Amino acid sequence: MAITVAGPRGLLRELRQTMADAMGAQDRLDKIVKLIADNMRADVCSFYVLRDDGALELFATHGLKSEAVHMTSLRLGEGLVGRIAAEAEPLSLSDAPSHPAFAYRPETGEDPYVAFLGVPVLRAGQILGVLVVQNAETRVYREDETEVLLTVATLLAEMVSTAEFDNLIKPGSDIELRRPRMIEGQVLSEGIALGQVVLHDPRVVVTNFVAEDTDAESERLERAIRTLRVSIDDMFNHGDMQMKSEHRDILESYRMFAYDRGWVRRMREAVAAGLTAEAAVERVQNDTRARMQRQSDPYIRDRLHDLDDLANRLLRVLTGDLKVFGARELPDNAVLVARNMGPAELLEYDRSRLRGVVLEEGGNTSHVAIVARSLGLVAVGQVDNIVSLSETGDDIIVDATTGTVQLRPPPDVEATYADKVRLSAKRQARFAALRDKPSITKDGQEIALFHNSGLIADLDALEETGADGVGLFRTELQFMIASKLPRLGEQVELYKEAIAACGDKPIVFRLLDIGGDKVVPYIRSAAEQNPAMGWRSLRLALDRQGLLRTQVRALLQAAEAKPLKILVPMVTESLEFRQAKNVIEKEHERLVRNGQTPPESIQIGAMIEVPSLLFELDRLLPMSDFISIGSNDLVQFLTAADRTNPRVSRSYDPIALPRLRALRLIAEAAENHGKPLTMCGELAGHPVEALALMAIGITRLSMAASSIGPIKELVRAVNLAPIREEVLAALGNEDPFLSMRDLIKELAARQALPV
Ligand code: PEP
Ligand code: MG
Repeated sequence: MAITVAGPRGLLRELRQTMADAMGAQDRLDKIVKLIADNMRADVCSFYVLRDDGALELFATHGLKSEAVHMTSLRLGEGLVGRIAAEAEPLSLSDAPSHPAFAYRPETGEDPYVAFLGVPVLRAGQILGVLVVQNAETRVYREDETEVLLTVATLLAEMVSTAEFDNLIKPGSDIELRRPRMIEGQVLSEGIALGQVVLHDPRVVVTNFVAEDTDAESERLERAIRTLRVSIDDMFNHGDMQMKSEHRDILESYRMFAYDRGWVRRMREAVAAGLTAEAAVERVQNDTRARMQRQSDPYIRDRLHDLDDLANRLLRVLTGDLKVFGARELPDNAVLVARNMGPAELLEYDRSRLRGVVLEEGGNTSHVAIVARSLGLVAVGQVDNIVSLSETGDDIIVDATTGTVQLRPPPDVEATYADKVRLSAKRQARFAALRDKPSITKDGQEIALFHNSGLIADLDALEETGADGVGLFRTELQFMIASKLPRLGEQVELYKEAIAACGDKPIVFRLLDIGGDKVVPYIRSAAEQNPAMGWRSLRLALDRQGLLRTQVRALLQAAEAKPLKILVPMVTESLEFRQAKNVIEKEHERLVRNGQTPPESIQIGAMIEVPSLLFELDRLLPMSDFISIGSNDLVQFLTAADRTNPRVSRSYDPIALPRLRALRLIAEAAENHGKPLTMCGELAGHPVEALALMAIGITRLSMAASSIGPIKELVRAVNLAPIREEVLAALGNEDPFLSMRDLIKELAARQALPV
């Protein structure tokens, strides 16, 4: 029996006392390693801390030579200690010197010790150091001893992250935990933001590690697990069945883990060893995070992520920290960091304090990205591991011109960015100066520029950009943020406000486009394999005519005596458009019958975002007053590549030949029928893509407000006719290697255009 009578619980109690006693950081560490050695009857206990240069420095030892403290170090991967750190796995050896990785350090006086047990010191999945015990006699460490050492390591990890620990760090070096990080992601909403991290779903910080009363802790853990299970079951049973399949996947894996016996057993063991329930969850969560970091299989990584989220939920149940989003205090330069979030969650934050958003997931056309753009927030997605690497309050720079995130940036990086921000402010000033200038090409082609919008808050920007109006008002955003179905009166109010905010400029209201990734919690339907191609948008509206009629009624009332433009989304065939028009016409008749003031005029347009409609344009156009292309969905369906999944959507260039030919077909048909055509998908807001669209004859572009300036600058600089000629000729080119993007870039370069 290697553990003393005091046992692990006694050790934890003594450690807690040591943590609380007033003493210097080094004395505290020295006392801790001695307590561990005594309790585990080890001859040596040493604690190594990982520095930002990748070296593991000996910070404290009992048993090795004290002169070696802060003098000896091993590289990551070097020796047994380096190996434990590199692999984030415990290592137990009865005869360490015979192990091929053994690295002898004469200055430590390590020679007499043969038995070796080392464990990683982890926090939030990051390796902070290594804790080792050694014995002179050959012996095999038992599994429960490894458990004890791992538990103690959790305690040390907390100590390393305190300010007190900073006193032990040599001048000029730092510990790995605070190392600056640069991580590449994908631009979701352009711009540069400097600010402070606010974790959207903050990790619960465990402060009380050692149990006073193990039976009580064990009861708390059991109760919390029961509560957690009930809440997951509830979400599953009563949740929105139309939710995105990936949300369902996450819930399913939550449920699987919540009932996983291994997970629960490991937490129970940790409580039995003397930890509080919170510390037990944290201890087991650390192992999960370490496994997560080593995992290259994306599926398993995702599942480990889910387990991590679930453990955080359990911690919240235990600490009673179930605060709602947005209720938190935000710094006035907040950068939200999250694994992912829905558009409604983003909207719950105080916009005036938000600078940016950084997500581990999130594709360019996902709705959270669209909302970030419409709020003018800088956003980057696909940023690996950002949640576990950052802490609330860390400095962060979000460079959404390149898709780079700088976490805890060093001063020189910060200075460079401060310069960049000044430059970008100059750029903004340049755009602002274009506000009242006409959007017309050098050779006289007018290009009308509109906003994509969906919130009253983002309509203010119309004044700043001087755009021609709102080309797409996504009415579903109001439904997505509401907790229950907005009533007729509420809808009328919102539409009236939107019309008023536009003044004399036109606004195109798109009818409800819910379903797919636009989850509306109070509209439930059966689970679907492919929600993007399921019961959504116009299909849902035509089936649920009550919903559609109410919205149309609200729009007609809100327009009062002004002209009204209504856009019908996701039209799959012209017959559906006809049916939607019938509803609008009937509501119009009803309004007149009731003696209410009808709009001065009603124009009804169809959205072209389902490929089938391309082969029916000659039937659709005569009954449409205008049409609008939704490139986000159209490209998704043309390429059979999910718009919310960058892994596939990134592979297909939306302006590659087949897509551009499809767009040209629509432009030609609109020209032939003399009907106005607007592009309102995300394509129109990107300079190279916008140039391609102008070249194929699309002269009305609707985009996020932040894109108006750059696109107007481009419009005013271009001589369109020669570009149009070459691009139209290239559309007929059969060369299999021709890249339309390269061609357009080359044509832009010839005119030195700002793309
Ligand atoms: C589109 O599909 O391009 C579009 C504008 O609609 P949404 O992005 O709202 O689906
Ligand atoms: Mg769409």
